[in-house]
Amino acid sequence: MTTGGKRVLPMKPKTKTPVLLFALAAIMASGCSTGPDRAELDRRGAIPLTELASELGLAVESTRFPEDRTLRTEDGRSFYLMADRRHYRYEGDAYEVGDQAAFLVGGELLIPQGLASRIRSHLDDSPPPQALREPDRPRLPTPAAAKNSIIMLDPGHGGKDPGAVVGKSQEKTVALSVSQAVAANLRKRGFTVHETRSTDQFIELDERVAAAARRGAGLFVSIHANAASNRKARGVEVFYPNENSPRAATAERLASRMSTRIAAVQGQPNRGAKRDPRGLRVLRGTRMPAVLVELGFMTNPEDLKLLNDAGWRTRAAAAIADEIAAEFRNP
Ligand SMILES: [Zn+2]
Repeated sequence: MTTGGKRVLPMKPKTKTPVLLFALAAIMASGCSTGPDRAELDRRGAIPLTELASELGLAVESTRFPEDRTLRTEDGRSFYLMADRRHYRYEGDAYEVGDQAAFLVGGELLIPQGLASRIRSHLDDSPPPQALREPDRPRLPTPAAAKNSIIMLDPGHGGKDPGAVVGKSQEKTVALSVSQAVAANLRKRGFTVHETRSTDQFIELDERVAAAARRGAGLFVSIHANAASNRKARGVEVFYPNENSPRAATAERLASRMSTRIAAVQGQPNRGAKRDPRGLRVLRGTRMPAVLVELGFMTNPEDLKLLNDAGWRTRAAAAIADEIAAEFRNP
């Protein structure tokens, strides 16, 4: 029920309520001194990104750059925001930030009002800002130095899920064998390598995604073999996430090089890097650069011969490891 009275609450009470004072005291007592100072923010007319995100129902994601953030809508559209840059990106296109760029205070990215209203206008029915004609492209994410990198290898299938089966050959066995050779190769070079499975074991797709996040992986590489009803289909292809994001850009570049290198091991056709058309869980769910390698077609006799050959597996694994290592050397 309503009170029906005419009393209007003041918009800005002159005195703070005891609850507010208590909350402030609690925050100060907890030693939270690095966060942005509220008065300073108000003076500069900016709001913390996290506040804007919760107002708009967006998810905030960190990026490879400590100062950059991705904002993602529920249906997968994304903004890429950078401190002290004159533009931001929405769905890959560049837009001017307005009067003032986003800036960092105490590790929190702050969004000036002008930029905030531009972000809102992409999401509601008001006319969105005009895209820039590719001014200065933002830096592509630069993977960390190799010694700090953590790689999550993901051999496909396992246990009760054999993947593709042709005669006595099972995809899960090929994937595990190649993945273990990649792991050994990378460990020799000093990389930290984790595997979603190192035995013939069934692992849920979501658990593979979660494991990569838990381990803080900087790169996710899933290894599979293909199958098709057309037995003539053969060759190598590598998928990358179907999204406009820095991690997808990194993955695309790696996928392209990997596919070329693996195909060259034994003259397989190179089907190339492909944007994942199926929304594969391990590509869609991960938050780091992620690729899914299809080593060849189990349903093609020539490819299957390679997939079952120990020497080819070792050389294909070396090609994969080379390209992973190169990704960290030459960002
Ligand atoms: Zn598979």
